[in-house]
Amino acid sequence: MAINGESHLNIAADTAEKIKVSNRLIRSELLAESRRLKSEHPWLNRQDLIGGSILVAVLIGIAASATAYLNEVVPAALAVLLMAFLMSIAHELEHDLIHDLYFAQSKRLQNLMMLIIWLVKLHANPNWRRTVHLRHHGFSGQMEDWEERLLGLGHALGWRRIVALISPFGSGLFFKAVAKSDREFSARSTTRANFPTFIVFHALVGAEILNFLLPANLHDVAPRVVWSTVSALTVLWVLPSILRHFCLTLMTTMVHYSDDIPRNNVHFENQIVDHWALLPIQLFCFNFGATHIFHHYIVQQPFYLRHLAAKAVRSTLLNEGCRHNDLRILFRGNRWSKVA
Ligand SMILES: [Zn+2]
Ligand SMILES: [Zn+2]
Repeated sequence: MAINGESHLNIAADTAEKIKVSNRLIRSELLAESRRLKSEHPWLNRQDLIGGSILVAVLIGIAASATAYLNEVVPAALAVLLMAFLMSIAHELEHDLIHDLYFAQSKRLQNLMMLIIWLVKLHANPNWRRTVHLRHHGFSGQMEDWEERLLGLGHALGWRRIVALISPFGSGLFFKAVAKSDREFSARSTTRANFPTFIVFHALVGAEILNFLLPANLHDVAPRVVWSTVSALTVLWVLPSILRHFCLTLMTTMVHYSDDIPRNNVHFENQIVDHWALLPIQLFCFNFGATHIFHHYIVQQPFYLRHLAAKAVRSTLLNEGCRHNDLRILFRGNRWSKVA
């Protein structure tokens, strides 16, 4: 059941003014903490070098994990966890690139990094995501926020939201709903932009299902090397992609409010989710639940700096009335209002 389209919260004028002041305070504290960290650790100013080095480290980590798995040094389960973790770092880099935080002077280099990350993550096209994500910052929680609406925000928790949680390409289930509520959204161009990884992902999933289900004598339809390659790619690419997607999507659908919140007011856009029971999930999305809210206040902060600065500003955020571990958000279709 879609519960979008209902009226926004009514906020008294004096409360609105207090929230404005509070938003300014949080922003200024975050900026001050960033400046303090950068002056205390001058190497933090070398953003391009840091971003490029992290990508190289991720690629080395992927090569080492894959080699260890293929040589039976690590079991399949550990290989999946390692790869999912490395993919989550690649995702942070992609997000920072979307905000022009590395190599802003060289689109060619940015595009190369985006292409590598697209291959690493086996997920949505980063260039398509750039448009959708910048829109998220402009319209968080509104009908125009395609990024979150494609994950089912604004809809009651049902089978479509669960599929979108599990499948990196499950958003297709919400194309119709998003196109209906916002005419600017095009299902066709979204499909076209994401087609390459969509096809590779589903071809590998289909082949691995066949590999699992076919009786031994029918495996001869393809050479043995094909089946072993499919199995290796499932462990090293497909399953980690699903795990990373699940963890990030679960956290993003827990921190973002939607539908009944006022426009352009960051106070209502997010909450802090850092419940201990969710720590294993946070491990594969770089502690997204605890820190994404800071990104809504200040966009121009690379992910590592955000995490360093968040520690000092967290208490201010909570003192200013930021919601904290409101885990029932999922059962309200992400609405801010606690009244059914
Ligand atoms: Zn962003
Ligand atoms: Zn957000």
